[in-house]
Amino acid sequence: MTSDVIAIDGPAASGKSTVARNLSEALGIPYINTGSLYRAVAWKLRKNALDPDTVSPEEVDRILADTRISYEKPAPDAPPDIRIDGVFPGQELRSADIASGASKVATMPNVRAWLLDLQRGMAKLGRIVMEGRDIGTAVFPDARFKFFLTASPMVRARRRLAQSGETVDGATLESVARDIAARDEQDSRRAVAPLKRAEDAVLVDNSEWESHQTLQFMLDKIKEKETMEKETVLNYRVPYADTDQMGVVYYANYLKYFEMFRSEMLIDAGLSYLQMEKEGIALPVIEAVCRYKSSAHFEDRLTITGRVAEAKGVRVKIECEVRCGVRLLADGYTVHACMDMKNNRPTRVPPALLKLLK
Ligand code: C5P
Repeated sequence: MTSDVIAIDGPAASGKSTVARNLSEALGIPYINTGSLYRAVAWKLRKNALDPDTVSPEEVDRILADTRISYEKPAPDAPPDIRIDGVFPGQELRSADIASGASKVATMPNVRAWLLDLQRGMAKLGRIVMEGRDIGTAVFPDARFKFFLTASPMVRARRRLAQSGETVDGATLESVARDIAARDEQDSRRAVAPLKRAEDAVLVDNSEWESHQTLQFMLDKIKEKETMEKETVLNYRVPYADTDQMGVVYYANYLKYFEMFRSEMLIDAGLSYLQMEKEGIALPVIEAVCRYKSSAHFEDRLTITGRVAEAKGVRVKIECEVRCGVRLLADGYTVHACMDMKNNRPTRVPPALLKLLK
Protein backbone atom coordinates (compact mmCIF):
# COMPACT_ATOMS: atom_id res chain seq x y z
CA MET A 1 0.00 0.00 0.00
CA THR A 2 1.28 3.48 -0.79
CA SER A 3 0.05 6.65 0.88
CA ASP A 4 -0.82 9.42 -1.52
CA VAL A 5 1.54 11.81 0.26
CA ILE A 6 4.23 14.12 -1.10
CA ALA A 7 6.74 13.87 1.74
CA ILE A 8 9.35 16.61 2.03
CA ASP A 9 12.05 16.24 4.67
CA GLY A 10 15.19 18.21 5.28
CA PRO A 11 17.16 20.30 7.75
CA ALA A 12 16.10 23.67 9.17
CA ALA A 13 15.68 26.56 6.73
CA SER A 14 16.28 24.38 3.67
CA GLY A 15 13.22 25.88 1.93
CA LYS A 16 10.76 23.09 2.78
CA SER A 17 7.87 25.34 3.80
CA THR A 18 8.17 27.55 0.73
CA VAL A 19 8.27 24.72 -1.74
CA ALA A 20 5.58 22.75 0.13
CA ARG A 21 3.28 25.79 -0.02
CA ASN A 22 4.07 26.34 -3.71
CA LEU A 23 3.48 22.66 -4.52
CA SER A 24 0.19 22.68 -2.66
CA GLU A 25 -0.93 25.72 -4.69
CA ALA A 26 0.28 24.29 -8.00
CA LEU A 27 -1.46 20.96 -7.38
CA GLY A 28 -4.48 22.32 -5.51
CA ILE A 29 -3.99 20.01 -2.49
CA PRO A 30 -3.60 20.67 1.27
CA TYR A 31 -0.21 21.33 2.82
CA ILE A 32 0.81 20.36 6.35
CA ASN A 33 3.84 21.81 8.07
CA THR A 34 4.59 19.24 10.79
CA GLY A 35 7.27 21.45 12.40
CA SER A 36 4.35 23.59 13.57
CA LEU A 37 2.96 20.59 15.48
CA TYR A 38 6.18 20.24 17.48
CA ARG A 39 6.25 24.02 17.91
CA ALA A 40 2.65 23.82 19.18
CA VAL A 41 3.66 21.33 21.89
CA ALA A 42 6.59 23.58 22.92
CA TRP A 43 4.22 26.57 22.96
CA LYS A 44 1.77 24.73 25.19
CA LEU A 45 4.54 23.78 27.64
CA ARG A 46 5.64 27.43 27.80
CA LYS A 47 2.01 28.52 28.41
CA ASN A 48 2.03 26.15 31.38
CA ALA A 49 5.32 27.64 32.62
CA LEU A 50 7.18 24.41 31.82
CA ASP A 51 10.68 24.40 30.37
CA PRO A 52 11.15 21.90 27.49
CA ASP A 53 14.72 21.36 28.81
CA THR A 54 13.70 20.14 32.25
CA VAL A 55 10.09 18.96 32.02
CA SER A 56 9.55 15.30 33.02
CA PRO A 57 7.93 12.74 30.62
CA GLU A 58 5.02 12.32 33.11
CA GLU A 59 4.39 16.06 33.08
CA VAL A 60 4.44 16.04 29.26
CA ASP A 61 1.94 13.16 29.21
CA ARG A 62 -0.35 15.09 31.53
CA ILE A 63 -0.20 18.16 29.26
CA LEU A 64 -0.76 16.13 26.06
CA ALA A 65 -3.81 14.41 27.55
CA ASP A 66 -5.35 17.85 27.88
CA THR A 67 -4.29 19.25 24.47
CA ARG A 68 -6.27 19.51 21.22
CA ILE A 69 -4.32 20.37 18.08
CA SER A 70 -5.96 20.77 14.69
CA TYR A 71 -5.29 22.36 11.32
CA GLU A 72 -7.98 24.91 10.54
CA LYS A 73 -8.64 28.15 8.67
CA PRO A 74 -8.42 31.14 11.08
CA ALA A 75 -10.65 33.07 8.62
CA PRO A 76 -12.78 31.87 5.68
CA ASP A 77 -10.24 32.92 3.03
CA ALA A 78 -7.05 32.38 5.07
CA PRO A 79 -4.87 29.28 4.62
CA PRO A 80 -5.25 26.57 7.30
CA ASP A 81 -3.10 27.07 10.39
CA ILE A 82 -2.40 25.36 13.71
CA ARG A 83 -5.08 25.67 16.34
CA ILE A 84 -4.27 24.65 19.93
CA ASP A 85 -7.10 24.30 22.42
CA GLY A 86 -9.18 26.73 20.37
CA VAL A 87 -6.39 29.34 19.96
CA PHE A 88 -4.43 30.25 16.80
CA PRO A 89 -0.94 31.20 18.09
CA GLY A 90 0.10 32.30 14.55
CA GLN A 91 3.46 34.10 14.50
CA GLU A 92 4.15 33.19 18.15
CA LEU A 93 5.02 29.70 16.93
CA ARG A 94 7.74 31.09 14.68
CA SER A 95 9.95 32.61 17.43
CA ALA A 96 13.51 31.36 17.93
CA ASP A 97 12.65 30.30 21.51
CA ILE A 98 9.73 28.12 20.37
CA ALA A 99 11.87 26.68 17.53
CA SER A 100 14.50 25.59 20.03
CA GLY A 101 11.81 24.22 22.40
CA ALA A 102 10.28 22.31 19.45
CA SER A 103 13.61 20.67 18.74
CA LYS A 104 13.78 19.55 22.42
CA VAL A 105 10.23 18.16 22.59
CA ALA A 106 10.90 16.43 19.26
CA THR A 107 13.41 14.16 21.06
CA MET A 108 10.70 12.89 23.44
CA PRO A 109 9.26 9.50 22.38
CA ASN A 110 5.84 10.20 23.94
CA VAL A 111 5.49 13.48 22.00
CA ARG A 112 6.48 11.79 18.73
CA ALA A 113 4.05 8.90 19.29
CA TRP A 114 1.23 11.34 20.09
CA LEU A 115 1.90 13.41 16.98
CA LEU A 116 2.34 10.33 14.78
CA ASP A 117 -1.35 9.44 15.03
CA LEU A 118 -2.35 13.02 14.37
CA GLN A 119 -0.15 13.23 11.25
CA ARG A 120 -1.24 9.86 9.85
CA GLY A 121 -4.87 10.84 10.30
CA MET A 122 -4.27 13.82 8.00
CA ALA A 123 -3.75 11.49 5.03
CA LYS A 124 -7.55 11.07 5.06
CA LEU A 125 -7.70 14.50 3.40
CA GLY A 126 -6.73 12.86 0.08
CA ARG A 127 -3.40 13.70 -1.58
CA ILE A 128 -1.40 16.03 0.70
CA VAL A 129 1.98 17.73 0.85
CA MET A 130 3.56 17.13 4.25
CA GLU A 131 6.92 18.54 5.28
CA GLY A 132 9.10 17.87 8.30
CA ARG A 133 12.07 15.77 9.37
CA ASP A 134 10.77 12.20 9.39
CA ILE A 135 7.81 12.16 6.99
CA GLY A 136 9.39 9.85 4.41
CA THR A 137 11.15 7.68 7.03
CA ALA A 138 8.73 7.30 9.97
CA VAL A 139 5.33 8.96 9.43
CA PHE A 140 4.71 7.75 5.87
CA PRO A 141 7.50 5.31 4.92
CA ASP A 142 5.11 4.25 2.13
CA ALA A 143 4.65 7.80 0.75
CA ARG A 144 4.19 7.82 -3.00
CA PHE A 145 6.58 10.76 -3.48
CA LYS A 146 9.57 11.50 -1.27
CA PHE A 147 11.96 14.43 -1.40
CA PHE A 148 14.88 15.37 0.80
CA LEU A 149 15.51 19.07 0.51
CA THR A 150 18.79 20.64 1.50
CA ALA A 151 20.97 23.69 0.93
CA SER A 152 24.43 24.73 2.10
CA PRO A 153 24.64 25.90 5.78
CA MET A 154 25.40 29.52 4.78
CA VAL A 155 22.53 29.72 2.31
CA ARG A 156 20.19 28.37 4.99
CA ALA A 157 21.46 30.86 7.60
CA ARG A 158 20.96 33.72 5.12
CA ARG A 159 17.41 32.59 4.39
CA ARG A 160 16.55 32.25 8.07
CA LEU A 161 17.96 35.72 8.86
CA ALA A 162 15.77 37.19 6.13
CA GLN A 163 12.59 35.72 7.70
CA SER A 164 11.33 38.35 10.12
CA GLY A 165 10.38 37.14 13.59
CA GLU A 166 12.30 33.86 13.26
CA THR A 167 15.56 35.02 14.85
CA VAL A 168 16.39 36.80 18.10
CA ASP A 169 17.15 40.57 18.06
CA GLY A 170 20.76 41.31 17.16
CA ALA A 171 21.24 37.94 15.43
CA THR A 172 24.09 37.78 12.92
CA LEU A 173 24.70 35.43 10.02
CA GLU A 174 27.22 33.56 12.18
CA SER A 175 24.91 33.24 15.20
CA VAL A 176 22.01 32.06 13.03
CA ALA A 177 24.28 29.54 11.29
CA ARG A 178 25.34 28.25 14.75
CA ASP A 179 21.69 27.91 15.91
CA ILE A 180 20.73 26.05 12.75
CA ALA A 181 23.76 23.74 13.06
CA ALA A 182 22.83 22.99 16.72
CA ARG A 183 19.24 22.19 15.75
CA ASP A 184 20.34 19.96 12.85
CA GLU A 185 22.72 18.15 15.20
CA GLN A 186 19.92 17.59 17.75
CA ASP A 187 17.48 16.47 15.01
CA SER A 188 19.97 14.08 13.39
CA ARG A 189 21.26 12.50 16.61
CA ARG A 190 18.06 11.84 18.50
CA ALA A 191 17.16 8.19 19.03
CA VAL A 192 13.56 8.32 17.74
CA ALA A 193 12.93 9.16 14.07
CA PRO A 194 16.12 11.18 13.51
CA LEU A 195 16.46 13.51 10.56
CA LYS A 196 17.84 11.48 7.67
CA ARG A 197 17.21 11.01 4.01
CA ALA A 198 14.95 8.06 3.16
CA GLU A 199 16.76 5.75 0.74
CA ASP A 200 14.12 6.26 -1.90
CA ALA A 201 13.84 10.05 -1.48
CA VAL A 202 14.88 12.33 -4.33
CA LEU A 203 17.69 14.59 -3.10
CA VAL A 204 17.04 18.25 -3.91
CA ASP A 205 19.94 20.61 -3.21
CA ASN A 206 18.45 24.04 -3.83
CA SER A 207 21.46 26.15 -2.71
CA GLU A 208 21.76 27.75 -6.11
CA TRP A 209 18.10 27.85 -7.06
CA GLU A 210 15.30 30.37 -6.85
CA SER A 211 12.12 28.95 -5.32
CA HIS A 212 10.39 28.68 -8.73
CA GLN A 213 13.24 26.46 -9.97
CA THR A 214 12.93 24.15 -6.95
CA LEU A 215 9.18 23.97 -7.55
CA GLN A 216 9.61 23.13 -11.23
CA PHE A 217 12.21 20.44 -10.48
CA MET A 218 9.87 18.76 -7.99
CA LEU A 219 6.81 19.04 -10.24
CA ASP A 220 8.82 17.40 -13.04
CA LYS A 221 9.85 14.53 -10.72
CA ILE A 222 6.23 13.99 -9.64
CA LYS A 223 5.04 13.94 -13.25
CA GLU A 224 7.84 11.55 -14.24
CA LYS A 225 6.91 9.09 -11.47
CA GLU A 226 3.21 9.28 -12.27
CA THR A 227 3.95 8.53 -15.92
CA MET A 228 6.13 5.57 -14.95
CA GLU A 229 3.53 4.17 -12.57
CA LYS A 230 0.64 4.44 -14.96
CA GLU A 231 -0.41 0.94 -15.90
CA THR A 232 -0.90 0.37 -19.60
CA VAL A 233 -4.10 -1.45 -20.46
CA LEU A 234 -4.58 -2.26 -24.12
CA ASN A 235 -8.11 -3.08 -25.26
CA TYR A 236 -8.56 -5.08 -28.44
CA ARG A 237 -11.68 -6.46 -30.19
CA VAL A 238 -10.88 -9.81 -31.87
CA PRO A 239 -11.33 -9.46 -35.66
CA TYR A 240 -12.43 -12.34 -37.91
CA ALA A 241 -8.94 -12.37 -39.41
CA ASP A 242 -7.41 -13.48 -36.06
CA THR A 243 -9.46 -16.68 -35.80
CA ASP A 244 -8.65 -20.13 -37.20
CA GLN A 245 -10.70 -23.00 -38.60
CA MET A 246 -11.81 -23.94 -35.06
CA GLY A 247 -13.23 -20.44 -34.65
CA VAL A 248 -10.83 -19.42 -31.88
CA VAL A 249 -7.94 -16.95 -31.87
CA TYR A 250 -5.02 -18.64 -33.62
CA TYR A 251 -2.27 -19.35 -31.06
CA ALA A 252 0.46 -17.38 -32.84
CA ASN A 253 -1.61 -14.19 -32.62
CA TYR A 254 -0.92 -13.98 -28.89
CA LEU A 255 2.69 -13.08 -29.64
CA LYS A 256 1.36 -10.31 -31.86
CA TYR A 257 -0.79 -9.12 -28.92
CA PHE A 258 2.29 -9.14 -26.68
CA GLU A 259 4.02 -6.94 -29.25
CA MET A 260 1.07 -4.54 -29.52
CA PHE A 261 1.14 -4.21 -25.75
CA ARG A 262 4.89 -3.48 -25.66
CA SER A 263 4.49 -0.66 -28.16
CA GLU A 264 1.64 0.86 -26.21
CA MET A 265 3.48 0.58 -22.89
CA LEU A 266 6.52 2.39 -24.29
CA ILE A 267 4.37 5.16 -25.75
CA ASP A 268 2.55 5.56 -22.41
CA ALA A 269 5.93 5.97 -20.73
CA GLY A 270 6.88 8.76 -23.14
CA LEU A 271 9.19 6.48 -25.13
CA SER A 272 8.40 5.07 -28.53
CA TYR A 273 9.93 2.03 -30.13
CA LEU A 274 10.05 3.86 -33.46
CA GLN A 275 11.98 6.70 -31.81
CA MET A 276 14.34 4.24 -30.10
CA GLU A 277 15.15 2.68 -33.46
CA LYS A 278 15.73 6.11 -34.96
CA GLU A 279 18.20 6.69 -32.13
CA GLY A 280 19.98 3.45 -33.04
CA ILE A 281 18.64 1.03 -30.38
CA ALA A 282 16.72 -2.11 -31.37
CA LEU A 283 15.12 -4.70 -29.07
CA PRO A 284 15.02 -8.01 -30.98
CA VAL A 285 13.24 -10.89 -29.22
CA ILE A 286 15.62 -13.65 -28.09
CA GLU A 287 13.08 -15.70 -26.14
CA ALA A 288 9.28 -15.92 -26.11
CA VAL A 289 7.04 -17.94 -23.79
CA CYS A 290 3.26 -18.12 -23.98
CA ARG A 291 1.06 -20.32 -21.77
CA TYR A 292 -2.44 -20.86 -23.15
CA LYS A 293 -5.23 -21.13 -20.58
CA SER A 294 -8.48 -20.46 -22.41
CA SER A 295 -9.63 -19.49 -25.91
CA ALA A 296 -11.04 -16.31 -27.39
CA HIS A 297 -13.53 -15.84 -30.24
CA PHE A 298 -14.49 -13.35 -32.93
CA GLU A 299 -15.64 -10.03 -31.40
CA ASP A 300 -14.42 -10.90 -27.88
CA ARG A 301 -13.03 -7.84 -26.14
CA LEU A 302 -9.51 -8.57 -24.89
CA THR A 303 -7.54 -6.60 -22.31
CA ILE A 304 -3.80 -6.91 -22.43
CA THR A 305 -1.64 -5.83 -19.49
CA GLY A 306 1.99 -6.30 -18.57
CA ARG A 307 5.18 -4.81 -17.27
CA VAL A 308 8.97 -4.64 -17.56
CA ALA A 309 9.78 -7.46 -15.14
CA GLU A 310 13.59 -7.57 -15.39
CA ALA A 311 16.28 -5.42 -16.92
CA LYS A 312 19.87 -6.49 -16.45
CA GLY A 313 22.99 -5.93 -18.55
CA VAL A 314 21.81 -6.06 -22.14
CA ARG A 315 18.53 -7.96 -21.53
CA VAL A 316 14.98 -6.85 -20.82
CA LYS A 317 12.15 -9.19 -19.89
CA ILE A 318 8.58 -8.01 -20.51
CA GLU A 319 5.68 -9.97 -19.05
CA CYS A 320 2.18 -9.97 -20.52
CA GLU A 321 -1.31 -11.24 -19.72
CA VAL A 322 -4.26 -11.42 -22.08
CA ARG A 323 -7.75 -11.53 -20.56
CA CYS A 324 -11.33 -11.57 -21.72
CA GLY A 325 -13.15 -9.95 -18.79
CA VAL A 326 -11.68 -11.66 -15.72
CA ARG A 327 -10.90 -14.86 -17.67
CA LEU A 328 -7.17 -15.34 -18.25
CA LEU A 329 -6.58 -16.47 -21.86
CA ALA A 330 -2.80 -16.49 -21.98
CA ASP A 331 0.21 -15.23 -20.11
CA GLY A 332 3.90 -15.23 -20.84
CA TYR A 333 6.87 -13.06 -21.58
CA THR A 334 9.42 -12.02 -24.15
CA VAL A 335 13.11 -11.45 -23.50
CA HIS A 336 14.85 -8.82 -25.63
CA ALA A 337 18.51 -8.08 -26.25
CA CYS A 338 19.33 -4.39 -26.61
CA MET A 339 21.26 -3.92 -29.83
CA ASP A 340 23.30 -0.97 -30.97
CA MET A 341 22.19 -0.77 -34.62
CA LYS A 342 25.30 1.14 -35.71
CA ASN A 343 27.66 -1.76 -35.05
CA ASN A 344 25.07 -4.55 -34.64
CA ARG A 345 26.36 -5.40 -31.16
CA PRO A 346 24.59 -5.85 -27.83
CA THR A 347 24.48 -2.74 -25.68
CA ARG A 348 23.34 -1.94 -22.13
CA VAL A 349 19.65 -1.38 -21.48
CA PRO A 350 19.05 2.38 -21.98
CA PRO A 351 18.33 4.25 -18.69
CA ALA A 352 14.89 5.36 -19.95
CA LEU A 353 13.88 1.71 -20.23
CA LEU A 354 15.43 0.80 -16.87
CA LYS A 355 13.13 3.34 -15.25
CA LEU A 356 10.14 1.26 -16.34
CA LEU A 357 11.26 -1.65 -14.19
CA LYS A 358 8.48 -2.29 -11.67
O1 C5P B 1 10.43 22.83 10.59
P1 C5P B 1 10.49 23.57 11.87
O2 C5P B 1 11.71 24.40 12.04
O3 C5P B 1 9.24 24.34 12.15
O4 C5P B 1 10.53 22.41 12.99
C1 C5P B 1 10.74 22.68 14.37
C2 C5P B 1 11.37 21.45 15.01
O5 C5P B 1 10.43 20.40 15.08
C3 C5P B 1 12.56 20.88 14.28
O6 C5P B 1 13.79 21.43 14.65
C4 C5P B 1 12.53 19.42 14.66
O7 C5P B 1 13.24 19.21 15.85
C5 C5P B 1 11.08 19.15 14.94
N1 C5P B 1 10.45 18.35 13.89
C6 C5P B 1 10.59 17.00 13.90
N2 C5P B 1 9.94 16.21 13.00
C7 C5P B 1 9.17 16.75 12.06
C8 C5P B 1 9.03 18.16 11.99
C9 C5P B 1 9.71 18.93 12.92
O8 C5P B 1 11.31 16.47 14.73
N3 C5P B 1 8.52 15.96 11.20
